Amino acid sequence: MHTLTRDEAVTRANLVRVDGYDIELDLTAARTSTEFGSTTRVRFSLREPAAILAPGEGGPATFAEVKPVSAHLVRLNGRALDPAALDGNRLPLTGLGPSNELTVTATMRYSNTGEGLHRFTDPEDDEVYLYAQTFLDDAQRMFACFDQPDLKAPVRLTVLAPPDWVVRANGAGRQTAPGRWEFTETPPLATYFVTVVAGPYHVIEDSHDGIPLGLLCRRSLAPYLDADAAEIFDVTRACLDRYHELFADRYPFGTYDQAFVPEFNAGAMENPGCVTFRDEFVYRSAVTDTERELRAVVIAHEMAHMWFGDLVTMRWWDDLWLNESFAEYMGYRVTAEATRFTQAWTSFAVGRKSWGYAADQRPSTHPVAPPDVTDTALALLNFDGISYAKGASVLRQLVAWVGDEAFLTGLRAYFTSNAYGNATLADLLTALSEASGRDLAGWAELWLRREQVNTLRPQVTVDAHGRYQQVAVVQTAPQAYPTLRPHRLGIGIYGPADGAGGGAGAEAGRLLLVNDGDLTYAKVRFTPDDLAALPAVLPRMADPLARAVIWAAAADATRDAQWPAADYLALAASALPSETQLAVFEDALRFARATALTRYLAPSARPAAGARLHAACLRALADAGPGSGRQLSAARGVIGCSGPGEVDGLAAWLAGQDVPAGLLIDPELRWTLLHRLVVLGRAGETEIAAEGRRDRSARAAEHAARARAAIADAAAKARAWEMIVADDSASARLIGATAEGFWQPEQGDLTAAYVPRYFEQMPAMTARRTPHAARQIATFAYPQYAVSAGTLRDADALLDRGGLDLVLRRVIVDATDELRRAVRARA
Ligand SMILES: [Zn+2]
Repeated sequence: MHTLTRDEAVTRANLVRVDGYDIELDLTAARTSTEFGSTTRVRFSLREPAAILAPGEGGPATFAEVKPVSAHLVRLNGRALDPAALDGNRLPLTGLGPSNELTVTATMRYSNTGEGLHRFTDPEDDEVYLYAQTFLDDAQRMFACFDQPDLKAPVRLTVLAPPDWVVRANGAGRQTAPGRWEFTETPPLATYFVTVVAGPYHVIEDSHDGIPLGLLCRRSLAPYLDADAAEIFDVTRACLDRYHELFADRYPFGTYDQAFVPEFNAGAMENPGCVTFRDEFVYRSAVTDTERELRAVVIAHEMAHMWFGDLVTMRWWDDLWLNESFAEYMGYRVTAEATRFTQAWTSFAVGRKSWGYAADQRPSTHPVAPPDVTDTALALLNFDGISYAKGASVLRQLVAWVGDEAFLTGLRAYFTSNAYGNATLADLLTALSEASGRDLAGWAELWLRREQVNTLRPQVTVDAHGRYQQVAVVQTAPQAYPTLRPHRLGIGIYGPADGAGGGAGAEAGRLLLVNDGDLTYAKVRFTPDDLAALPAVLPRMADPLARAVIWAAAADATRDAQWPAADYLALAASALPSETQLAVFEDALRFARATALTRYLAPSARPAAGARLHAACLRALADAGPGSGRQLSAARGVIGCSGPGEVDGLAAWLAGQDVPAGLLIDPELRWTLLHRLVVLGRAGETEIAAEGRRDRSARAAEHAARARAAIADAAAKARAWEMIVADDSASARLIGATAEGFWQPEQGDLTAAYVPRYFEQMPAMTARRTPHAARQIATFAYPQYAVSAGTLRDADALLDRGGLDLVLRRVIVDATDELRRAVRARA
């Protein structure tokens, strides 16, 4: 198969304009067949009449893409082409005239990896569900096309499906005969967001401000979607209203369906008019408000894409950040401004942003706006914390600098001049520069074109009365990336009695917080005195966002081995029980347990530190209101931090005994309990199979796969490993779950032999897999708890060998960098 290069895309876009697609998909046999029929009629013109005179045999030539099982009929301008001319995924097109028509009839294959047209059988009722994920160049898995983002064209879709199915797509559709669905022609769409959702989906309809709204999910999830529909519609309406205010431009794609679909790889996908979400967002068990907030943020994020990305599309993948950074920024902003989740930026500060900092400090770092994305394979690698979280943080800093009004005025101009077309970073900078009256070229060079992150460190001198005489913030940069940047930021002074005050001359407080308000993107450090005072000051600080910035900074210093993991764990044990902001509680606890305790701390120190963390979660649980999110969060913490001495207590909860009042031992919490019992050797195949009979849902199948891989037994590990490296029949999601369960910090001896096997066998696994599936499996299967110089040597030996697949190389470079931090932290 050929990967499209930027040069090829530029050449093709200079030659042709796509006038429209007529696509007919035959899904009638989907219940029993793994293949479907696809007929595409695409009309396209040559851009310059002069191109007809271009030299070369047979006149102007280009190619279309398609990945069929077999192509039956190919016609160009009425003349038959030999289907055997298909070279991999490329169909050569020669002898083109001023306007052309290509017809391709082919048999295509459904996927089980979430790429292209995914087919899923619900284990609960055996119903079959389909949805298309055509991002980034997977439209060609569904229909013949010119698969690049700047060849946008209207799409007219017809779908043949079983008569009792529901079919949704980008435009409004109706059934013209039983099982025959016709959709209205769309505005110009890029191929990567053409979608179709088909199956016996449960549908809830509503409308708002003249826009028809729909929610879809599998039938087996219907009661749970029904229970939450009011909240999802509330968020949807509030976000639509807010975007209409901010952008002064109506939602451009008619209907707005939100489909919750199975085994979805990302959080969601912004297909115009038909957004797809992972159906874990339909909650079948109790969740906390942090989870509800995340769902709201994702709804707002995808809706932002209707303008950023869908109405105005990046010309090429090097401007991926135009899509993702903006959607990420707007998603958090609009959620905080328009919904009940007013603390969304706090969650961003303590959790999401760390993803950006981590990615930006790895050897694989790249600029937010990289100039060198030369093909689609490289583009896939940039779906990381830099394009999302760092990009959003940088935009937040931009707004702090130019002001909100100039920012929004610039955006509106950008939408107006590029609507239904494509744009680049230069177009956006021009619009923002004009609106703000500032030349943003220098700003963009420092913030968007250069990688890595600065560190901001306070330096203070105090007088004899303890008052600040001088407060300075010293900025440094990594040696290899010596860029310093201008920052507009807040500085907070938090005294023992709380309350922020301001700046030089104020009475010396107990803690001086650089980047209070979290407006800039930088690593933050404390003075040594302030660091020592954290345990006393932190629990008394009233502002959750300030606490979030502090927790994130403490984790960052721990990751840099500048602060001992034991100190972070001590802070967590003392301050978490009184942490009232749920997102802060959850993220700080996650870092404490999943990183500081199980990877950074010497194994000998682990039982005592783990016991203290467990005790802290018990205290939080005791203080939590019955049935509250805080109670659920604390209970999950208690389970996760349980050691071998606590298995009786866990088994009792699972049996419904001694459960704290108000805590629901529902299906998800049952699996959480069972998983921990399996890891600790108290449960195994018998219990997993019994739980699987009790809960036959798709989620249960994943939990069971994860738990089976976690069984503390050599034969179970061997079976799980075989599935990870060699099984192509199970869906990528189930194999990913297996990989997730395989490594456990408590099972180091049992799995030691698999550490070298990972590095030996991942290249072959990757070669057999699609890029997304390979990335997911290789990431989960990485031996993250094998913190030793030996693992680093194995990893480096593989990386040095050369010829490694790009996706696998990135996974191993990144995971090994994380492992190197763990080795340093232990030293
Ligand atoms: Zn996005």
